[in-house]
Amino acid sequence: MSTIPHVINGERHEAPGTLPVFNPATGEITGHVPVPDAAFVDDVIAGARRAAATWSRSTLSERTNILFTLRHLIVEHTDELARLITAEHGKTLADARGEIARGLENVEYACGLNELLKGSFSPQVATGVDVHSLREPVGVVAAITPFNFPIMVPLWMTANALATGNVVILKPSERDPSVSVRVAELMKEAGLPDGVFTVLQGDASTVNQLLEHPGIDAISFVGSTPVARHVYRTATTAGKRAQALGGAKNHMVVMPDADLDVAADAAINAGYGSAGERCMAISVVVAVGDVGDRLVPKITERLDRLVVGPGDDPRSDFGPLITAAHRDRVAGYVARASEDGFTVVRDGTTVDLGPGFFLGPCLIDRVRPGTPAYDDEIFGPVLAVVRVETYADAVALINANPYGNGTAIFTRDGNTARHFTRDVTVGMIGVNVPIPVPVASYSFGGWKDSLFGHAHMYGPEGIAFYTRAKVVTTRWPQPSESQIDLGFPTTR
Ligand code: NAD
Repeated sequence: MSTIPHVINGERHEAPGTLPVFNPATGEITGHVPVPDAAFVDDVIAGARRAAATWSRSTLSERTNILFTLRHLIVEHTDELARLITAEHGKTLADARGEIARGLENVEYACGLNELLKGSFSPQVATGVDVHSLREPVGVVAAITPFNFPIMVPLWMTANALATGNVVILKPSERDPSVSVRVAELMKEAGLPDGVFTVLQGDASTVNQLLEHPGIDAISFVGSTPVARHVYRTATTAGKRAQALGGAKNHMVVMPDADLDVAADAAINAGYGSAGERCMAISVVVAVGDVGDRLVPKITERLDRLVVGPGDDPRSDFGPLITAAHRDRVAGYVARASEDGFTVVRDGTTVDLGPGFFLGPCLIDRVRPGTPAYDDEIFGPVLAVVRVETYADAVALINANPYGNGTAIFTRDGNTARHFTRDVTVGMIGVNVPIPVPVASYSFGGWKDSLFGHAHMYGPEGIAFYTRAKVVTTRWPQPSESQIDLGFPTTR
């Protein structure tokens, strides 16, 4: 059993660990995470501020070269990184490799920083006057991340923040922090100077110090909605710019004209992949018209073929949940759904796979809003089916939901699909695509309680979030062109 270190100046910094990290497939404690005191956090931030003074002035070619090398190193180390993720998160190795690939997209996008940081220039806006714009780094960014994507979400933030000349302090989830340690070492190997990227382990108390500390300029947060709301309020009250992405309840609408085999496959993949512990997981299937009677048997027959098991067993379709407490909480929703009179078509809470935190797939039909099975983000392998009469009922249901992260429609009618993309109050929409996570050249963000702040994550909005704009107005007058004139300058 080991202590999971901080990484400062690319070197492991050991400290006594107190928070247990589990292998969710076995239930064993495999390590402990230290929780730093305030003086330690102060020192880390002071080091980051020193590094920011030089890194913010590094050349674009220096940063590009480091990012290209980092991309190469992450590709080379994919299997090692995937194993670290699976050992602490529990997801399958294939899923972990997929997460790495989606995170890597952001490094590749950031490699184009010469294009991304181009300013604009307007000659002769008035006689002899030119204007140009530029964007400068914000300074020191604190990146605070959730357990469910221990490498992808840190890369969402870090790639663009570093590319734009910021220094990053990453506070990873205390549940699966080891992969961040390796990423920090790979960054050092890629040539990132000391102090530019730090992994600061810790818990909520560590986050709260970062939120209020005057040495931090910007906060990028991804996690659950109550914490995202708290993070956004606290950081902005302390005068920082902040983006805080929260939880989700993602609906997949299935229209009567949809190919129901395609829709059933999609519901299985998006509902139970990674044991449902994805912020873009489908948790509600909205069956329109008579679809429910035809679709539920198709989902059920596929469900019965799923294999639940350790993430490092290639036969497993999905692995365990993150902790025993979370598994029990998820199981509680299924028991409550039964008490609420809903049809529990499949109850995976009875699966017995030893001491690991496993739960089999659960399917609950005829769920209604106003009950925990519908209202809460369950974050487990539990799919709810809500039956509605019409397309308009489906849209009304989605728009009344406080979350607005992702949604999808399954139909063969382009006109319905087009209306759907305009009608729903949700940030990311799939048309016959159940998990519409945007590619890295677009930005990721939900609406309503799924995002606090206006800036979406990564892509163009990420570049804007990590930079401040300057506009320079220039004139080189000859002495003969100079005169006293106290009027407000105009371009006429
Ligand atoms: P979490 O909110 O419990 O933790 C996220 C981070 O916040 C961790 O680093 C944790 O140490 C810290 N934290 C926890 N409680 C805190 C508190 N009271 N004060 C300050 N900091 C605190 O989330 P989680 O359980 O690790 O992750 C799962 C959640 O994240 C789900 O709700 C999921 O939907 C959401 N998520 C959202 C997105 C998105 O893009 N919208 C992506 C991934 C995950």
